[in-house]
Amino acid sequence: MSEHKRFLNTGQKLLKTMRSTSHRSRKGGGVFGDRWNPPKTSDGAEPQGVVLFPGEYKIPVSIGKRGKEQRELDLPYYVAFEHYYATKRRGAPCSAGISLISDGPDSELTWGNGQCPACYHIDDGVGGISRRLVHVFNAVLLGHFHLIDSDRVDASNKPYKDWTECEGKRCKYCSSGSDRVYGRRVYWQLGTRFVNTLTTHAQTVLSKRCKCGGEITPIGFQCEACGDVIRDLDAHPASREEIATIRRTSAACPHCGVVDVPEEVPECDSCKKAQPLTLWDVQLHVARQGEGTDTTLMISEWKPISDKLLARIESRMKPYNFAETLFKPQTPAQQAKRLGIPDPYTDATTRSDVGGVDWDGDE
Ligand SMILES: [Zn+2]
Ligand SMILES: [Zn+2]
Ligand SMILES: [Zn+2]
Ligand SMILES: [Zn+2]
Repeated sequence: MSEHKRFLNTGQKLLKTMRSTSHRSRKGGGVFGDRWNPPKTSDGAEPQGVVLFPGEYKIPVSIGKRGKEQRELDLPYYVAFEHYYATKRRGAPCSAGISLISDGPDSELTWGNGQCPACYHIDDGVGGISRRLVHVFNAVLLGHFHLIDSDRVDASNKPYKDWTECEGKRCKYCSSGSDRVYGRRVYWQLGTRFVNTLTTHAQTVLSKRCKCGGEITPIGFQCEACGDVIRDLDAHPASREEIATIRRTSAACPHCGVVDVPEEVPECDSCKKAQPLTLWDVQLHVARQGEGTDTTLMISEWKPISDKLLARIESRMKPYNFAETLFKPQTPAQQAKRLGIPDPYTDATTRSDVGGVDWDGDE
């Protein structure tokens, strides 16, 4: 199965850019309908302000494709494989589980070998069913919102509330006296390409800026496992290109032998305790650019989260419980039903004629 290369696991690298986490974490419930996607510039929309915040997720994985060894990944965001069946425009979580391809430092995530009707049909060569790795982030959209009654009602005949962005001065909801709140909690599902954009932004832009406002440069590299200095840049200076190469090359530590990319030792030009910014420390302004498979994520602006902003949105920063809601485990039969495909584990007929794929280009 060579497709796994398409699902390059950037999760672990991303994690390295997000070390200072979680003081803001709190428990929260799950709400469907809170899914967010950045606005599209092709629709004439402006980039939207958003703050990502960490949760504490334990993701069970097996080591190796047929591995029996189980482990839990501790991640500040959720990861899962999901399927989409274009013909019926239905999606469902993969029920095959998640595997780490190897035990090494650069290992990638791939789907496991548990029972999954959609994976079964993909392996069988049936077209039109897709599978992708998604990284699911907790986020708060910045700006004012109204919660207004929709025309849909729940079991007790009460109308569901819909979130609507306040339109400012001439907002009709404001003039009709509707309550206005600042910040809306959402979740954001990113495919591999969009996650790469975030990771690159964190590594090449944010990590060069200190929480104090100063500028950060590396003074050396150390082994993350044993803490020994691998390269002291004061004693042995390196060019920009060399530093970039060291930064992304896995090597065996000469002291303890652990193979990993070396950890940067940062120095700030205006404080004693360099604290590089991470994705959790900034507000981002993002939009989707382009169409179809060429859609890219654009970060038009960023700045550190001010204390004032944090105070305004802190009460919304409650991580979703994805494992119990969106990605609640399903039996193969439940998944097959949801996608509208035969369940090969109970049905005799397994072939289905399907076609068309739609991921909006963010694989
Ligand atoms: Zn699957
Ligand atoms: Zn308004
Ligand atoms: Zn070491
Ligand atoms: Zn500083």
